[in-house]
Amino acid sequence: MSQKEDYYKVLGVGKDAGKDEIKKAYRKLAIKYHPDKNPGDTAAEEQFKIATEAYEVLSDEQKRQKYDQFGHAAFGPGRGSAGAGGFGGVDLEEALRTFMGAFGGSGGGGGGGGSIFENFFGGAGGGRESSNRGADLRFDLEIDFEEGVFGSKRDLSFSVNVECDECGGKGAAPDSKMTTCPTCKGQGQVITSNGLFHMRQTCPDCGGAGKKISNPCAKCRGTGQMKGKRSITLRIPPGVETGSRLRVQGKGEGGLRGSPAGDLYVIIHVKPHPIFERHDLDLVVDLPVSTQTAALGGEVQVPTLEGVSRIKIPAGTQSGRMLRLKNKGVKDPRGYGHGDLHIRVKVEVPTHLSSKAKKLLQQMEEILDKDHYPDSVKFTKQAEEFARRREELEKLRATGTS
Ligand SMILES: [Zn+2]
Ligand SMILES: [Zn+2]
Repeated sequence: MSQKEDYYKVLGVGKDAGKDEIKKAYRKLAIKYHPDKNPGDTAAEEQFKIATEAYEVLSDEQKRQKYDQFGHAAFGPGRGSAGAGGFGGVDLEEALRTFMGAFGGSGGGGGGGGSIFENFFGGAGGGRESSNRGADLRFDLEIDFEEGVFGSKRDLSFSVNVECDECGGKGAAPDSKMTTCPTCKGQGQVITSNGLFHMRQTCPDCGGAGKKISNPCAKCRGTGQMKGKRSITLRIPPGVETGSRLRVQGKGEGGLRGSPAGDLYVIIHVKPHPIFERHDLDLVVDLPVSTQTAALGGEVQVPTLEGVSRIKIPAGTQSGRMLRLKNKGVKDPRGYGHGDLHIRVKVEVPTHLSSKAKKLLQQMEEILDKDHYPDSVKFTKQAEEFARRREELEKLRATGTS
């Protein structure tokens, strides 16, 4: 391994670059070196990973500070100085996730209904060099809580450029012959030079195929693409939550001239549920419990994912008390067990009282004294202490100074 390059140099920004500038610089590099655009090109993949690593550090204020202070040593493997949490290079999966995270963003709630549809790589500035693989697409899908925890199936359909149905995406008419591309002589790549660097580029003439079509398909004019519709049935695995990303290979935009289609990324948004509040794999339920049950103790029913459970409410339970049902949370989609179900007791005071009920409560109030309300006693004491201090300080400020 050679010496690590300076992260600022990697992104081509100055030491005082702002967040936006860093993001922009990274975006440009990430799109240029994205593996989807450079299939099988390990050098590009390496560039993509390095740029992502630089971005991960420089886009995070804390990491950036450490880096400015200690350089690469701040994150060096086995040199976890200052508890940096170890940051020694990224793998490709991680880099791709970072990239999607940085630019996938949640489209926001613009307009009701329909799906927000974006083309990740389209219009990224700079000509359409590199491969003819179809663009990856993003599909934002809103599902309800139940679908998220139990899993579901959804039929999705959307308009997109698909492979031409006349030529099967090859771009060639049936009687067409393939000839070797004269520009790259069948290599699929050309070498360009700007004086300093020699760069391999996808041949602009044949789009990297190395071959040319003598007789292009009439329907798609040789592009291999046409406007069309994709319909898929998406299997939603149990346990997904907002931000989960499901990749459907080959269901993005169709490729040009027989190149593979891009992928479809479905980003999950889970609607909130009136009863179950989700925190990763854990669930929280606010459970109303009557004043009498809270005071006397008793058994109550709680809804869980698997049906109704009964739990014991201890005598003297106050509002806000947390009870727990272990392993009654959401099943981990990767198979690492279950979360827990937390029950937050909400003592419900009775309303619409009959005169008989009112009388009984009044009688209760008469026979209960301070000893039955330790919280109130404590609160009153603290309030009194506050008033005492206030007076004390008033007097202190009134006395003359010397
Ligand atoms: Zn065609
Ligand atoms: Zn060529």
